[in-house]
Amino acid sequence: MRQQVCETQKIVLLSHVNADGDACGSLLGCMLMLDQAAKQAQKIVPILPNGLPKSFGWLTGSDRIVSGERELTLCQSLIEEADLILCLDLNAPSRIDFLQEALIKSNAFKVLVDHHHNPASEYFNLVFSDPEISSTCELLLWLSLELWGRDYLNSEVARCLYTGLRTDTGGFAFSCSQPSCFDAAALLVSYDIRPAEIHNRIVNTFSYNRMMFYGFALSHRLEIYPEQHAALFSFTLDDQRSYNVTSEDMEGLVNYTLMMEPIEVGALVREEQGKTKVSLRAKGDVDVNLLAKQLGGGGHTKAAGATCFMSMDETVKKVKALMGVEGQEPLKTISAS
Ligand code: 5GP
Ligand code: MN
Repeated sequence: MRQQVCETQKIVLLSHVNADGDACGSLLGCMLMLDQAAKQAQKIVPILPNGLPKSFGWLTGSDRIVSGERELTLCQSLIEEADLILCLDLNAPSRIDFLQEALIKSNAFKVLVDHHHNPASEYFNLVFSDPEISSTCELLLWLSLELWGRDYLNSEVARCLYTGLRTDTGGFAFSCSQPSCFDAAALLVSYDIRPAEIHNRIVNTFSYNRMMFYGFALSHRLEIYPEQHAALFSFTLDDQRSYNVTSEDMEGLVNYTLMMEPIEVGALVREEQGKTKVSLRAKGDVDVNLLAKQLGGGGHTKAAGATCFMSMDETVKKVKALMGVEGQEPLKTISAS
């Protein structure tokens, strides 16, 4: 792998749709290391199917990210012509949505670095996958140390990798029961990355609209089923339009369901153009990856999701059935806004 990186000329880096901190952090951290390690490279291009979320625009190198949505033909040809493709924080080509065919067709050497369950290994030449590990950023850090020691680690790379570690663990609350997660954090913090500043850039970024939307969501769009230990948010396109919020603004909202003591499984169902997006979260013994799989999605045991090509009403019905609350009366009925 070390040799391969050194000799490769055209490298493409890919991560999943609706990129989160781990996707952006691993994509850019990897790119910044390859900038130094891939000595023959003429091009190292990071691609995100629907671009970089605004909230991660402060990461070094984010201006180099090419959006599949904005530059589809360019992305398809970059993928087709690449010698080496690194797929980060995704377990199957379907996670890059409309770019998946280009990836499957490409003759590049394809490497997967990921921590989701059920990696679709058949599409890759080399697979680094560990569902026990906190984040792709952590896995990438260990892999880079194996390949290059600390030669290409610097504070910009460390900030990228720490971002993924921090966001995927919800600020070191989840999927961090292995000591290696904290070993990784300690090593990254030693590169003068200012964790408090990163925290502010990730967490304290609400627009007023977003804050008002959260108020609306909690008052009018949350159904609570205490006996079934479940709760569910649902938002139509109209809800989102009237508060002028995007999917990015809803990042993290689903976690509010679990803040109620008896709730063990929470869902957020969001209407999109022509499809419906589901986010699932769990605490305790519930495995939401299994629920997400029944909706054609996947993810992790405590955080999973799916994209359903059904109406919002049908999706809500299905999610309720999976949570065992279909036909039950919620504690708080939804009132029109
Ligand atoms: P979120 O609820 O934050 O969108 O996603 C949580 C996790 O669920 C993600 O890290 C990802 O692993 C998984 N996930 C979200 N959406 C989808 C989807 O449409 N398909 C699949 N297979 N996994 C998803
Ligand atoms: Mn991840």
